[in-house]
Amino acid sequence: MPMSTDGFTAETVFNQIIGYTYNDLILLPRYFDFEAGDVELKTRLTKNISMQLPFVSSPMDTVTEERMAIYMALLGGIGILHYNNKIDEQVEMVRKVKRFENGFINEPVVLSPNHRIQDILDIKKKSGFSGIPITEDGTTNTKLIGIVTGRDIDFEKDVNKKLKEVMTTELVTAKVGINLSDANNILKTKKVGKLPIVDNEGKLRALVARTDLLKNRDFPLATKDKNKQLRVGAAVSTREEDKERVEELYKSGVDVLVIDSAQGYNKYQIDALRYIKRKYPDIDVICGNIVTEEQAEGLLKEGADGLRIGMGPGSICTTQETMASGRPQATAVYHTAKVAYNYNVPVIADGGISVIGHIMKALSFGAESVMMGGLLAGTIESPGEYVYKDGMRLKKYRGMASLDAMKEGGAKRYFADNESIKVSQGVSGAVTDRGGLSDFIPYLSQGLKHAFQDVGARCIPELRDFMRSGKLKLQVRSASSIKEGGVHDLYLADKTFL
Ligand code: GDP
Ligand code: 5GP
Repeated sequence: MPMSTDGFTAETVFNQIIGYTYNDLILLPRYFDFEAGDVELKTRLTKNISMQLPFVSSPMDTVTEERMAIYMALLGGIGILHYNNKIDEQVEMVRKVKRFENGFINEPVVLSPNHRIQDILDIKKKSGFSGIPITEDGTTNTKLIGIVTGRDIDFEKDVNKKLKEVMTTELVTAKVGINLSDANNILKTKKVGKLPIVDNEGKLRALVARTDLLKNRDFPLATKDKNKQLRVGAAVSTREEDKERVEELYKSGVDVLVIDSAQGYNKYQIDALRYIKRKYPDIDVICGNIVTEEQAEGLLKEGADGLRIGMGPGSICTTQETMASGRPQATAVYHTAKVAYNYNVPVIADGGISVIGHIMKALSFGAESVMMGGLLAGTIESPGEYVYKDGMRLKKYRGMASLDAMKEGGAKRYFADNESIKVSQGVSGAVTDRGGLSDFIPYLSQGLKHAFQDVGARCIPELRDFMRSGKLKLQVRSASSIKEGGVHDLYLADKTFL
């Protein structure tokens, strides 16, 4: 090991017999001359998808369904929908995320004058909106003749009343060809809730909603596609039958697919990657999970657009103990990110993130984002209800290879779904309440900005350059220094730190 008196480079630290977890290492502080607020956390999820924040929610059935995915994207990250469900259930979740916010709503739901108020109420229940343009025959092939909004029906008691009796017929409309910012200006100045866009024959071509202007204002960091819809990812397995899942997800507008295997460097994953890339060249594919340079090289050569790193660090995970394979997470991130850098492909550090410092370390060692399960499972936006135990407010959180989840389909990730004897690689448990994502995500990003400031890095690429060039120095912590770095020697301490 080269001599140094003031910390060691990542290259020195990670090229040793010993592998390190986040907790084993500490970053040495560096000079800074800027405010934490000046730090920019913009990053990449994949080669082609960027985000304002480096946060990804894990495709687990106690973490990411549509609500989590909507809020992760609104707040600047992204959610990956789990696949422990039927194809149409996962596809419906994608649709809900994609419909949540829009620029132009290109295929708005329409009804005819002979539909009834009950039909609007049904749409509201299923899709969450009630502003429905009315056309002559209830399709967009005929002329727009009115619109029904919540205000037209909220005091109506007779749900069987026909829409022609309640619809508004004096419409503010705009012509096809108008750009989004001009359309938005009309919404602002005319103070209407919806702006139908019509062609020369008076047929409805699109709709613009005032709510979307507000969402755009309230969530300036949102991760969106070119149509101003929220981005969303979905997990798929390498099983033959999941070709249909991929097809349906693609049709529903999913932005990125995550091929989900616990050990992702295998024939099945490469076959699936080749298949998806050939058939759907415009969709980004994240491969994984992997932990070695050889695995990274193997998947990158095949065209992976992102890599998911981690085998065993998950809070619910027993893989390293049961299967004897895996790698300490900090070392895994460093080595895989080093290879991915040469391909200009980002890596996601997946699992084992339980405090802000772990996120900082993952990014310092070369990851461009972190994937979180346990940390997000206790938020309001995760699936499931809170329960109370011993005075604590808890939510269920389980590994996808826990016996519990495998019985419901999670075993696909572990190539164990056809086996009669199931060996679990995860546990089922509960995590404490973390409140709503609207508070939690800004809290994580604010903490992270301070961590960047402490090492003098203004943005993620700069942090990585510091690590690669050796400017960022690390120190391995002794067991007692880890203890020293945590809360110690207090009689009482609250647990509200992260
Ligand atoms: P409404 O007044 O009940 O229609 O609801 P809002 O206008 O407050 O919210 C409608 C939200 O649903 C907006 O963010 C739209 O982008 C979204 N949305 C997605 N698809 C449609 C659609 O087909 N029709 C309508 N009205 N809204 C849609
Ligand atoms: P966490 O954020 O809770 O520390 O880790 C979440 C990650 O653990 C997931 O994104 C996934 O990669 C991994 N994972 C999910 N379920 C299981 C499981 O049952 N066993 C193992 N080994 N890993 C799991």
